[in-house]
Amino acid sequence: MLLPLVQSIPITHIQEPFLEQNGVSLYLLRLEQTDPMISGNKWFKLIYNLEAFKKQHYSKLLTFGGAYSNHIHATAEACHRFDIPVIGVIRGEQSPKLNRTLLEAQQRNMLLYYISRQDYRLKNKPDFIKSLLAKLIDLNYLSKQDKVYILPEGGSNDLAIQGCALIPKLISIDYNYLCCAIGSGGTFSGLISGVSETQKNAKLLGFSALKGANNLSLTINELLKLSNVEKNIPAWEINHNYHFGGFAKTTNELIEFMHHFYQNHSIKLDAIYTAKMMFGLYQLIKQGYFPRGSQIIAVHTGGLQGNHTFEQKQILNWV
Ligand SMILES: *Cc1c(COP(=O)(O)O)cnc(C)c1O
Repeated sequence: MLLPLVQSIPITHIQEPFLEQNGVSLYLLRLEQTDPMISGNKWFKLIYNLEAFKKQHYSKLLTFGGAYSNHIHATAEACHRFDIPVIGVIRGEQSPKLNRTLLEAQQRNMLLYYISRQDYRLKNKPDFIKSLLAKLIDLNYLSKQDKVYILPEGGSNDLAIQGCALIPKLISIDYNYLCCAIGSGGTFSGLISGVSETQKNAKLLGFSALKGANNLSLTINELLKLSNVEKNIPAWEINHNYHFGGFAKTTNELIEFMHHFYQNHSIKLDAIYTAKMMFGLYQLIKQGYFPRGSQIIAVHTGGLQGNHTFEQKQILNWV
C-alpha cells in the first residue's frame, strides 16, 4: 500500500437518559479523530484516488468545490503531504480577502482558480472540462505536458466509494443501524458497499444536508453501480427532514443543540453536516423510530474546519 491507512477508528458510547428510556444504544464513530487536518470521511475518499494518481503517473490533480468546502481543505492538505501539485476550481467570485478554508488551502500550495456559478454547474461535462483545461494552460496553471487527474466535486467517484467502504470494516462492535450525513452521496454509497461485505443485516440511514435533494437516491444507485456494488446490498434510507433550511443554513435550535452536545459529551459537531444528522437522529429515537434493543452507530464525518465562520461570529461558543 502506497499510502498509510487508518488502522482503527475510536468509537464513543453516547450516554443520555432518553437513549436508555427508548431502549437503544448509540455510538459515535469518531472519524474526526483519525487525522488532525484531513477531515473525517474526506481522508477515506482520497486514499485510493491519491494512490491512483501516483501509480498512473499523473502530474497534476484538479478538483472542484465551494469556498468553504471541507473537500477542498482536505485535498489541499493531503496533496501537500504527498507532494501532489493540485488546483482547486472554486465556485463563484473571488472575494477580496480569502476566507480561512481557502487561505489554508493556498498555504498548502493549492492553486485556486475561480469560475462563475453558472460555469460551475457544467463542472462534470467533458466539453466544459476540456475548455477549462485549455484556459488553465493559457494561464500557466498547467503546462501542455501535464497529465491531469480530475477529481469531481466532493471527491465522489468510484475510488472514493472503495475508500469509504473501508469504514464499516474498521468498526469492531455489532450494530443494526449505521447513520451518516449526506452531501454528494459518495460517503453513504461507500458505507453501503462496506456494509454489504460485512454486517449484512445492518440498515443504513442517511441524513441529507441539502434541501430538496430529490435525485439523491438516484445518484447513490448510480454510484453503487459505477463501483460494481450489486450483491447483498443492505437496506438503506434517506431522511430529508433535517436540512435546517438548506445547505450550510443553521437555526438557533441547531446551534443550541451543538452547544448542549458539547457540554454533555465534550464532542464538537460541525454545523453543516454532523449536527444536523445527530439532531435528526435524536428526534427519530425519541419518536420511537428504532426498535428497542437497537444498536446504532452514527458516523462523525468531521468537517470541524467549517465551523470557523460561526465561531468567528461568536454564533458558536464552545464553553
Ligand atoms: C463532505 C462531508 C459529508 C458528505 O459527504 P458526501 O460524500 O459528499 O456525501 C458529510 N460530513 C462531512 C463533515 C463532510 O465534510
